[in-house]
Amino acid sequence: MQPVIAVDGYSSCGKSTFARLIAQELGYIYIDSGAMYRAVALYCLENGIISGESLDLELMQRSLGQISIQLKLNPGHGIQETWLNGRNVEEEIRSIAVSDVVSRISQVKTVREKMVSLQRKIGENGGVVMDGRDIGTIVFPEARLKIFMTADPDIRAKRRYDELVQKGVQVELSAVAQNVRMRDHEDENRKESPLVKARDAIVLDNSYMTLDQQMDWFRDKWKSSKKKHEG
Ligand code: C5P
Repeated sequence: MQPVIAVDGYSSCGKSTFARLIAQELGYIYIDSGAMYRAVALYCLENGIISGESLDLELMQRSLGQISIQLKLNPGHGIQETWLNGRNVEEEIRSIAVSDVVSRISQVKTVREKMVSLQRKIGENGGVVMDGRDIGTIVFPEARLKIFMTADPDIRAKRRYDELVQKGVQVELSAVAQNVRMRDHEDENRKESPLVKARDAIVLDNSYMTLDQQMDWFRDKWKSSKKKHEG
């Protein structure tokens, strides 16, 4: 079986760009596990399960069985897109409204159980690069290579802001910075699978690194991990 590579870390670290490039280089499948939590969050917003400060946990539990998430490769550009109950929601799940509530949704134990089992199923045959928060600790603790990404919070907020502006979203940098800090806090402090570096993960702080430098860093680590595995 081909290996699994886990890429975990903080919000807006550039995990998905990096993980996608790794997958491309190795001919592996790239899986964005955050997209799945975002799709559940979108469902909850659309169905009145979450709004403002309130989260109807009981309705959430009752609705879980009705949430079907699929990741489908768009043949046009070869990138995986997220589908929620038969609808392509790839753009909607990136909205600020979803970003604002997703970390509250991802704290719910039953939501995590459902997502983790889906993620394990997708990765069961290996040849996968998966990014998220708990891939190296919970989803694939046996992953061949575990990368834990971090970067200065202000730099992360600026990157996310630039990305949103480029997409035509009107937003204040301060609001993005606040969302990044809020998600860091909630992801690190939740009871269920908090964001934590796996003991055997290698830290990549990309605050002042270009993508090319990150890929060189990866190639080096990948080579050593292969050597180690082959003994
Ligand atoms: O990766 P992304 O920022 O899109 O993830 C959105 C949210 O989903 C995170 O803030 C986190 O709360 C949750 N998440 C998670 N576990 C994962 C991936 C994402 O809890 N494996």
